[in-house]
Amino acid sequence: MKPLTYERPATLDEAVSLLGRGEVPTSLLAGGTNLVDLLKLDVESPQLLVDVNHLGLDRIDDTPNGGLMIGATVRNSDLAADPRVRERYPLLARALLSAASGQIRNMATTAGNLMQRTRCVYFMDATKPCNKREPGSGCPAVEGASRELGLLGTSDSCIATHPGDMAVALVALDAVVHFVAADGAGTIPIGDFHRLPGDDPSLDTTLPAGAIITAVEVPPLAFASTSTYRKARDRRSYAFALASVAAAIDVDGDTVRDIRIALGGVSPRPWRAHAAEELLRGAPATADSFRAAAEAELAAATPTGENALKVDLVVRLVTGVLLELTGSER
Ligand code: SF4
Repeated sequence: MKPLTYERPATLDEAVSLLGRGEVPTSLLAGGTNLVDLLKLDVESPQLLVDVNHLGLDRIDDTPNGGLMIGATVRNSDLAADPRVRERYPLLARALLSAASGQIRNMATTAGNLMQRTRCVYFMDATKPCNKREPGSGCPAVEGASRELGLLGTSDSCIATHPGDMAVALVALDAVVHFVAADGAGTIPIGDFHRLPGDDPSLDTTLPAGAIITAVEVPPLAFASTSTYRKARDRRSYAFALASVAAAIDVDGDTVRDIRIALGGVSPRPWRAHAAEELLRGAPATADSFRAAAEAELAAATPTGENALKVDLVVRLVTGVLLELTGSER
């Protein structure tokens, strides 16, 4: 048992000040659904835990333009059950409900979900080398167990996947992460929030050191009412995605007017399928178009021997979801 100090600030200023001191390795504690595992496995060893559960960041507010401002410590189950989320952003509600278990969703928070770490088996085993956990030690996954790992945006240094579902929907929705730090408040578009590994996989996100996420803003998107999230996994519940897709589509007659597609389980970041979207805007809303767009998105994939199955899986997921949303057999 390693000793650590626990602090429970009552205000955001106090929390920022505790983080800003930077005297000892510090972690933020919200729902703890990932962090406590990492502590037990010795993957993370902070000397200070700052509990952010009592800072009043647990509200879901309407924004003046018709979007939502989701507080950092809103629980996943509360967010999934919110009637505004269910009505305006079905892909977000479904992504949340596809994750983990009911008990975990009751604890897990919005910000914690964004900050959760990869479940790569080598990362989670402190006796193994891993560039993400111990920079420069190597990446055994490249030649090892990689069936669950990534094939888009990966590098020789790391092929981990971001394990979340919620973030995939948020990327499709162009959400914005709000934070505060000692030198003021800031925002990061969610598409820039999770980093690709390059030659330094140790940093998962672009959140500045010492910053605390306060909220996630979801802008209005009229056609998000025609949206969904589908997840392929090894069992029906309590499993991470082999691959997933969040999609929203706006069809005018037989033509795609606008579309959002994001993929999960295939990259170190929730993957916005820009190439597929580009091909589909103005294209016929048919199975052939959907399949061709998905295949174009996957053209840049660099699968390992073990995870090559994900290429076909993603193409089938994207095609199936878009056919379902357009009510089409075409
Ligand atoms: Fe570590 Fe990334 Fe390699 Fe997994 S894929 S062992 S997280 S460096």
